[in-house]
Amino acid sequence: MPAQTAFDALYASLDDDVVASGSVTRPVPTPTTGETLHELPQSSADDVRDAISRARLAQLAWARAGFAHRRRVLLRAHELLLERRELLLDLIQLESGKTRGQGFEEIFQAASVTRYNALAAQRVLRGRRRRSGIPTVATTRVRYRSKGVVGVITPWNYALSLAAMDVVPALAAGCAVVQKADDQGALSILALRRAFIEAGVPEALWAVVAGPAGEVGEALTDEVDYVCFTGSTATGRKIAEKAGRRLVGASLELGGKNPLIVLDDVDPERAAANAAHACFSAMGQLCVSIERIYVHRAVAGPFQKALVAELAAAKLGSALDFDADFGSLASAAQLERVTGHLDDAVAKGATVLVGGTPRPDVGPWFFSPTVLTGVTPEMRVYAEETFGAIASLYLVDSEEEAVQAANASEYGLNAAIFTGSVARGQRVAERLEAGSVNINEGYRGTFASVDAPMGGQKQSGVGRRNGPEGLLRFVEPVTISATTGVLQLPRWASEYREQAPLLLLLARGLAALRRR
Ligand code: NAD
Repeated sequence: MPAQTAFDALYASLDDDVVASGSVTRPVPTPTTGETLHELPQSSADDVRDAISRARLAQLAWARAGFAHRRRVLLRAHELLLERRELLLDLIQLESGKTRGQGFEEIFQAASVTRYNALAAQRVLRGRRRRSGIPTVATTRVRYRSKGVVGVITPWNYALSLAAMDVVPALAAGCAVVQKADDQGALSILALRRAFIEAGVPEALWAVVAGPAGEVGEALTDEVDYVCFTGSTATGRKIAEKAGRRLVGASLELGGKNPLIVLDDVDPERAAANAAHACFSAMGQLCVSIERIYVHRAVAGPFQKALVAELAAAKLGSALDFDADFGSLASAAQLERVTGHLDDAVAKGATVLVGGTPRPDVGPWFFSPTVLTGVTPEMRVYAEETFGAIASLYLVDSEEEAVQAANASEYGLNAAIFTGSVARGQRVAERLEAGSVNINEGYRGTFASVDAPMGGQKQSGVGRRNGPEGLLRFVEPVTISATTGVLQLPRWASEYREQAPLLLLLARGLAALRRR
């Protein structure tokens, strides 16, 4: 079969691209059957340090090559990503258990951030003049210096697109990257990287390491000039402590318990279909997917009925085509986490509205999309992030009650509002404590807006990826000021005595002219 040949040719040797000097490997299973998909080499702390040393050398030339060269290479990578999308889709599905539709979203997102950063980097990061403290006495400009070697640590859930969202802006800003992949997401990252290498990114400029978090992840955090971490809040806190001790910067993209508010002016059937996707795309294993639904009592009946009907009829599957609506949980550990939350909730009195059962008939870690009602604060699912297959539905009597309930969380990553009036949605959005708010969509409006910052408030993170904010993470601003010689600034007491009244006059004059 030609497709299989191309797949084999492209991916047979991907594991060789992991920086690992020893012979230790770890079997990585595919969620589609639970069988071993590949043997992933495991790196050591020494391998991480070697990769960083080589990346440091490669970075010097890459930074000097300039924006135009980097733009050409990244746009070539964009084209390659789109060209080999079918092979990448196969790989994403096999590694993560996602549907092809959700895999497509990953590739589309990776291509979007590549295109955006290729084209925006120079505009955002080129040196520019700023106002000097005293007009005509000095000229001042700011230039941006690449930070050096960036450590990128990614989770397993959206490995390919999350990698792109950190790695590509780092490369566009002239940095090198050493990336620690989660074992479960490594193949997707290696395939993504291969496209960039073929497009002209030097091998050493983007190195991938894999292996035990305690050794490999920590060695990386100990050495790099900046850390981009995506993962749980608990691990993010550890990374922040380490980065803080070394006084290097870090962006932390962490967990969420994202709310959806369904207002009383919606079309209930349409809202239910959108809610099903918002909660169970990637089986809820997406940082921005919805886990709490606050539905107005006025539409709760038909909304609930339609949601149950949609989910009960949805097709689960793992075939490498666009046939299934929902895929698998990613691992046995994820299945255990989901059943743990479900059992705890049911034992404490929650009601399963739909789902609630494993689906071994489809695959070893498949689980039916589950909606709970009657969830109370004693249950783990009430406030803890489940990160898979379960959403809780609560009835509210007013917009005000919905906003308060949505904000009553330690997290603040994403939120959504379904309403018949976008203007009303905009007003409610202003009041929600979240880094992104989507109106009449679960998460894709903001997720796909790669020119806008993405990140979390409260325990959901520090810093932002995407947009100019995402690029500015990777540079040190350097302010350079030169005196013009038009006027000698005061040095001695007599000069201060003479010039102070003039400088005060200048300050008042600038304020009157509204000049910064
Ligand atoms: P995790 O924190 O367990 O692991 C994330 C990554 O960090 C993995 O590669 C892991 O090996 C590594 N790691 C673990 N301990 C480390 C350490 N001490 N030093 C360095 N690296 C270490 O998270 P996970 O379970 O893999 O991912 C799920 C979590 O990620 C969820 O909470 C989810 O909400 C969050 N997430 C957030 C975003 C976002 O953009 N905000 C995106 C995706 C996932």
